[in-house]
This record gives sequence, C-alpha cells and structure tokens, in this order.
Amino acid sequence: PVDRSPEIQEARLKLPVLAEEQVIMEAVRENPGIVICGETGSGKTTQVPQFLYEAGYASDGQIIGITEPRRVAAVSMSHRVAKEMNLPPQVVSYQIRYEGNVTSDTKIKFMTDGVLLKEIQKDFLLRRYRVIIIDEAHERSVYTDILIGLLSRIVPLRNKKGMPMKLLIMSATLRVEDFTDNQRLFRTPPPVIKVDSRQFPVTIHFNKRTPMEDYTGEAFHKTCKIHRMLPPGGILVFLTGQAEVHNLCRRLRNAFPFRKNNTTAGEWQPPHTLKYLKAKSSLPRIDLDNYSALPVDEGDEDREAGIGDEEDGGSDLDIGDDLADSEEKADPSIPLYVLPLYSLLAPEQQAKVFRPPPPGTRLCVVATNVAETSLTIPGIKYVVDCGRVKKRFYDRVTGVSSFKVTWTSQASANQRAGRAGRTEPGHCYRLYSSAVFGDFSLFSEAEITRRPVEDLVLQMKDLNIDKVVNFPFPTPPSTEALVAAEQLLVSLGALEEPPRTGRVKQIQQASLSCPITPLGRAMASFPVTPRYAKMLALGKQQDCLPYVIAVVAAMTVREIFEDLDRPARSEEESTKLTQRRARMTQMRRLWAGQGAALQLGDLMVLLGAVGACEFAGCTPKFCEDNGLRYKAMVEIRKLRGQLTNAVNAVCPEVGVFVDPKMTPPTEHQVVCLRQIVLAGLGDHLARRVQAEDLLDPKWKNGYKTPLMDDPVFIHPNSALFKTLPEFVVYQEVMETTKMYMRGVSAVEAEWIP
Ligand code: ADP
Ligand code: MG
Repeated sequence: PVDRSPEIQEARLKLPVLAEEQVIMEAVRENPGIVICGETGSGKTTQVPQFLYEAGYASDGQIIGITEPRRVAAVSMSHRVAKEMNLPPQVVSYQIRYEGNVTSDTKIKFMTDGVLLKEIQKDFLLRRYRVIIIDEAHERSVYTDILIGLLSRIVPLRNKKGMPMKLLIMSATLRVEDFTDNQRLFRTPPPVIKVDSRQFPVTIHFNKRTPMEDYTGEAFHKTCKIHRMLPPGGILVFLTGQAEVHNLCRRLRNAFPFRKNNTTAGEWQPPHTLKYLKAKSSLPRIDLDNYSALPVDEGDEDREAGIGDEEDGGSDLDIGDDLADSEEKADPSIPLYVLPLYSLLAPEQQAKVFRPPPPGTRLCVVATNVAETSLTIPGIKYVVDCGRVKKRFYDRVTGVSSFKVTWTSQASANQRAGRAGRTEPGHCYRLYSSAVFGDFSLFSEAEITRRPVEDLVLQMKDLNIDKVVNFPFPTPPSTEALVAAEQLLVSLGALEEPPRTGRVKQIQQASLSCPITPLGRAMASFPVTPRYAKMLALGKQQDCLPYVIAVVAAMTVREIFEDLDRPARSEEESTKLTQRRARMTQMRRLWAGQGAALQLGDLMVLLGAVGACEFAGCTPKFCEDNGLRYKAMVEIRKLRGQLTNAVNAVCPEVGVFVDPKMTPPTEHQVVCLRQIVLAGLGDHLARRVQAEDLLDPKWKNGYKTPLMDDPVFIHPNSALFKTLPEFVVYQEVMETTKMYMRGVSAVEAEWIP
C-alpha cells in the first residue's frame, strides 16, 4: 500500500492517465508487451511505474526499470515519483552515466537508456527486472531503438524460461507504427493504449516574417511584449542550445529585474605549472599486440554502464546576438522570474522550474528541446517557439561532423505548442511564418539513420549478435553505415578479419558478420567510442595508462575550453574577454609543454589542463581563471574514475588509480602516447599538402586526408598551428568557418602501418 499525501493524491486525480489505470493494467497482465501513447503531461512517466508497483510488479526481489533518453528526466522523475509515493530514494532510485542512488532495496529504477544497454551486456535476460518501461520512445534515440530491438527477443525468451517479464513502450505521439507494424520486431503487434489528453485549445500565432539570423533577439522582443501586454500565465521559450538560453535569460533579467544576481566568489588558488623532465636515450616503441583483454568467461560486476547520454549542448555554437541598443529599458515594476532549462543543468537548478514562482512574479522558462516532451512545466500559458533545433550532423562518407541549427519538424513544433495548453487555453507564438512551417518535415528522423554506428555495432557483437544486419531494428541504419562500422572495427582489431574473396561485394557481405575478438571484448567494456577504447586497451605499456585515461576522458567530454570568442555586449565585457582570451592562450601554451611534449599537440594541452585543474582541486575559480568549462572538468573527473575502474576490471594487475597530483609524462611516455593515439585514430591520418599538390593558394598549410577531396586545416588555437608537422592524426574534423581538425597530434612516418 502506498501512503500518499492528500495534495499529491489530488494532483494525481487530475492526470488523464489515471482514468486508464485499469485498462493499462489489464493489458499488461494479458500481453507480454504494450504501447502507451499520451500527450506530454498526461502522467505516463510519473504514474505508470506507480500502477505497476501497486499491482505487485516489484515484489519477490524483482524491480521495475524505466529508461529515459535524457539524464535530466531520469533524475528528476525518480525524485518526483519518490515524493509522490512517500518513499525514500533508496527505494525509488536512478542511475545515470556517472552516478546513481540505487540500493538493494530499490524497487523502481529510472535510468538512461545507455545504462540499461550496458546491463544487458552483463545479464542478457535482465533477471533483476520484472518490467521494463521504455519511455519517450517517440524521440527515437539510438539506444532506445536498440533496446526495443533487444527486448523484442528478451521478453519471449524470459517467458519461455518461466521467468515472465513485461515490456511497456511509452510515447508522446501516436506515431508508433515503426514499433507496432514491424513484423521483424514483434510478430504479434503489441496493443496500443491511447490516453485521452485533457488538452486545452492553443491559439497559434505565426510571424509574418521569418528572422533568418537573429531569432534570439526576436524571442527576446516577443517575450517582453507578452510580459508587458498579456494576462498572467507562465511563458516557455524554446531555443536551441545552452549558450542561447543563458544569453536570453540574462537579457530578460536585465529588462525585468527581480532580484540582484549574486555571484559566488571562490578562493584564489595558484595555478599548477607543469615542468618537464628532460630525458634522453633511445625512443621507446609501443607493441601493438600487447593489449589488455578481458579474462575469458569472467564477468565483471562493477563494470559501469555509461554509453548513451544525450548530447544536448555538447558544443554550443552560438548564433549572432543583436545590438545593445535594441535592449529594453530595465523595468523593475513588473518582475519576471526567469529560469534556464537544458539537459546539463544541475538538478537543483532544474527542480526550480517545477516550483511555483515567487508571489507577484511571472514565470518564464527559457529552454532547449528538453522541455518539448521530457519535462512538463506547470502553469505555462504562452509558448515562444524559435522553430529550430540544434543537431549534430555527420557526413556519411568522411565522418566529418558539425553542429547545425536547423528547422525542427512539424510534429515537434506541435509538441512545443501543446505545452501552452496544459492548465488553461493558451497561445503559441511561432517566430516564423506559416509558409516556412509548411516546409518543415512532418516528423523528425530516427537518430540511428543519422550517425555513425561503430559503437553500437561493437556493443552488439559483444552481445554475440554477429550478423548485425539481421538485428530487428525499429528503423535500420543504412547498409553503408553498417559496413563502414565493421571495417573500422576490423581495422582496430576489435573484430576478426573477414575471409578474403575476390569480389568487393562479397567482402562487404562477409564483413557484415565478423565475430568479436578478445581485444574487442575489452574495448566493448570501456564506455567510450571504439577508437578511444583501443587506446585504453594499449595504455598499460610504459606506465602510460593514467595519461591515456585522462586524455580519453578529456576527448570524450568535449569542449573543455570556454568559448571566449563570443561577441561582447559592453566595453567592460570586451576588455574582460580580451584579458581572459590572453590568459587562455598563455595557459594553452604552458599546458602544451616543451620539447618532446609539443609533438603530442592538442592532446598534450588536454592532458596539461586536466592535470593542472586536478592539482588545483578542480575548483570553479581555477576553471574561470583559466578559461576551462567547470562543468566539463567535473565530468572529466567522474569519467576518469569510471574509466579507471573499467580498466582495472579488465587488467587488475596494473592497479591503476586516479592521482590528483599526476606528474607530467616523461619524454619516453610522450612518444608512447603518440603511438597509442595513432593506433586508435589510424583512420584519421592527414598529411601536409605537398608543394607539388598545391593546386590552389587556399590550400597552403592544408592537410590531405584519404577520404576528402579538399584539404583540412589546423586551427589557429591548436598547439601545432605553428609547427605544421608532416603527418598528424586528429580527433575529428569539424566544419565551422573552414574544415578544421580538432585534437591534433603529430605522428612519425615510420609508425604508420
Ligand atoms: P508525461 O510523462 O505523460 O509527459 P508526467 O508524468 O511527466 O507526464 O507529468 C505528469 C504531471 O506531473 C505534470 O503535470 C507535471 O507537471 C507533474 N510533474 C512532473 N514532475 C514534477 C515535479 N518534479 N514537480 C512537480 N510536478 C511535477
Ligand atoms: Mg514523460
């Protein structure tokens, strides 16, 4: 029996999903799998786990698992459900990439989809779970899709073995045919239960004109207007990324001040300076066959899960801001309570959006698309929709990626509008014209069709799914993408070489079923992309492991430096930015080291930054002073811990640990590190354009890569910008103003296989 407070009880009764409790529970009893569709806010995420709990699905030591594509949702929903049920976090818990509060008493467990995928690797039958709920299935995140494919096999298997298990798929849209009308996935289509939404009408207002550039400015003016002219009711603004969100929050707070912003002053700590030991003697070599492999048939219990967290805000390419003179005059007479909301925001900050705003103020939440379906913010009457979304795009052939802000889909725009009609009739202001809306695609594409899949293929091979092409994907990735993934994994030694046959076609076919190697299993146990996993597997040589772990963690977290190239809004800010830029340049130079260390290039800078930051205790003050993103550094710290555990599980004899006072690598080790990096990034090799190939003056100082016609370049911020070594490897190519390589290291010609 659940002991709920009267207020909670009353709030629950208003949720449309409550009316369907019996229908849902009966369907669950009678079917191995069901699909539940219901508008955002109808109570699916918070209530369905409670229905199951009350019906006894979390008794006999088994538990209820719920997956979310976003960390924000996993954490905040576990808190909410615990509160509603009056149960402690030891019982209603969460697990996300780096943290969780799951105990042996846990009955309801919220987690990111990547976490569950990792658990399937440990126990394919998921014996711990009596029910799995896949939430937000309409988002079509890669891991959600894979989980549905896997569970379509796991559930019947469990039932056959007399250990029954239930699968619930929950979606905010009615578009679920990819799951239900897919014979390969579910031979008998699961029943679909539709939860009637109690949605109030939302009036849509289109802009006459569509601002192509400055939609943040347009959002600002629209929000000011709503706040000045329209009756009470919360405002929810949709923008595309963290930087935009903060920007608009700042402008709105200036325009409608409500309280003084207090800044936290940390204590000053002297930066740690790196000194390089001079070492001589002959250069060491890395043995490519000397890697760590998993002990055969030995599961490792604390192998941590971690793939698959969202990338919202992974890189914030801010869009131009408008001029200061269009700013509203500060008007404290009508306070606006402005809150940001995005995935990487700290949970305490996120929780604020659910609390009523201070009396006498109007709530205004400025959000990325997390507010589209994952979180329902109470009391919203006005939605301002920029109509855009930031997505990462990959070039099919070259793997070049870029973050682009593009139009969202009609389905998403309608979801956003719907946020305005939860508690009373509302209004949605679209900052684009109806003609532009007409050109939006109807739905957003499944993510799996839009990105490289080598990490997924490796995870599947580790689950002994050799023929990945036959996997019951809700929407399969292209064969090209699958072939490219297998080829990369073969070249990294994670999969066995396919038998050679004469014709290309046959090689491709054969290469789609290569079994995993022992090295591949070790790599699959590291929660990072296969290229970096290879580096970790080689890292134990010459005591390089702590450095490899630090570099891999820094490369995985991305964007460790603050973006100081943003336009300044005032003279004062401009001076400050210039100073901070100068300081960052100076620190980068320092971290890049001297002598041999310089050749490790940008990865040495990462290593130096991580080392110095940890030495200083990883404080916000140190990061602020040195142009590092504090949040990124904290994440790197967590990931270092996690990778250290994962490596110890694979080769305990090394006994690596996280040393906050890590000394810089010796010259010897730097040479080894460069070879280890080459072993992982071998397909990201570039050679400086030779004099005879200089077809175009623009190609000067460019680099040729095997797959691209046009050259790529070393960024002016790179540690190797002045050196321009003949051969380099790079972490990735990002297209911004030019095709730039990021994370560049120099390699020696004789090491190249
Ligand atoms: P769905 O999953 O169908 O979108 P939810 O179960 O997430 O719906 O939300 C149901 C209701 O619970 C919403 O009205 C929402 O505002 C409320 N709610 C969710 N989380 C919280 C929270 N942390 N604090 C207060 N109310 C919340
Ligand atoms: Mg939900």
